[in-house]
Amino acid sequence: MANLHNLAGVPQRPTQAVILAGGRGERMRPLTDLRPKPMIEAGGKPFLEHQLLMLREQGFKRVLLLLGYLPAVVRDYFGDGRKWGLEIDYSVTDVEDKTGRRVKLAENKIENIFFLLYCDNYWPMSMEKMWRRFLEANVPMMVTVYSNKDNYTKSVLKVDDAGFVTVYDKSRKTPDLQGTEISYAIMRRELVSGLPDGNIGLEETLFPSLIRDRQLAAFVTHHRYYSVGDTFRLPITEAFLARRPAIILDRDGVLNEKPPRANYVRTWAEFKWLPGAQESLRLLKEAGFRVIVVSNQAGIGRGAMSENDLFEIHRHMAGDAEQAGGRIDAIYYCPHNWDDGCECRKPKPGMLFQAQHDFNLDLSRTLFIGDDERDGQAAEAAGCLSELVSGEKTLLKIVGELLLKPNKSAGP
Ligand SMILES: [Mg+2]
Repeated sequence: MANLHNLAGVPQRPTQAVILAGGRGERMRPLTDLRPKPMIEAGGKPFLEHQLLMLREQGFKRVLLLLGYLPAVVRDYFGDGRKWGLEIDYSVTDVEDKTGRRVKLAENKIENIFFLLYCDNYWPMSMEKMWRRFLEANVPMMVTVYSNKDNYTKSVLKVDDAGFVTVYDKSRKTPDLQGTEISYAIMRRELVSGLPDGNIGLEETLFPSLIRDRQLAAFVTHHRYYSVGDTFRLPITEAFLARRPAIILDRDGVLNEKPPRANYVRTWAEFKWLPGAQESLRLLKEAGFRVIVVSNQAGIGRGAMSENDLFEIHRHMAGDAEQAGGRIDAIYYCPHNWDDGCECRKPKPGMLFQAQHDFNLDLSRTLFIGDDERDGQAAEAAGCLSELVSGEKTLLKIVGELLLKPNKSAGP
């Protein structure tokens, strides 16, 4: 299949995804005795189906599945893919083939620029952002890197400030490694053409020279990925895929009257609910939503109030919410002063990622409602959906619209 170029000579974004799904899944025994790893069920369907649905949503049209172990189980289920609105094709090679050989043997089915992922990982991607970054970096390959600041997994690489991978060390002997590669890669086919014959792994063959030439870009994310790579991870993955919908709310100006700048709500007596806020919390609870509040509270860092003062306010606030039939599940606050340089004060997205990790949220499907531009910027940086309340657009109105949407359940 030919690839198109537009008139400006900028390549079109790829619409073919290639999925490496041929391994025996030894670490998933006995779940993989009778089916290959991508067919393990999580959240009510095979893991691979979650990936395919996301790829379709992200504008992919064709999927090439590279199979080896029990290929018929996959083919019988997905067929030509039409049922999922995709064209699915297969390349079946020896079960002992390593990743590099599997890709190389499928070369004639691979398009000029393609998207590559492993069947192990689900990560809520944004192709639009990734494609923009790939064009800027002007490289033959870009991989997605989980920053791993929370030690969720083992770090195997280093990325420099400009966003290029500088070290890849699976033996993990290099000090200060930070981050792990989760595939979700954009690649040019010429890299496949250049692979040597023989049974080789993809990363260990490609990465050293790409890194040496500064040709391996990283798309760094703080949003967790969810894996069927080992049995240890499966319960977390199950929790993520079966999660209930969530909403994230700013506090001052969304739930309660906003004090003037550099003034703070210091006591419960100074806290004034906005009209409709408690009703919104009730509606959200009734619709099954988890409600998370994220709030800058620099009054603490600036000495206007104590952390205990804030706790008292939040205790009352949560109590009022329950009285009204609602529920606040968690409140994250940034106690730091304006110039403390912390990672949590909005517009930085630190609190949103913390909530993502704690509650296994899919931020790409989670709405964050705020009232000022820093909220919007934090949402953008975290890949959240966002809305700002204003005179006409109250919290109650936004929540009402959200609950009318057919896909409000925010499932993948
Ligand atoms: Mg606010």
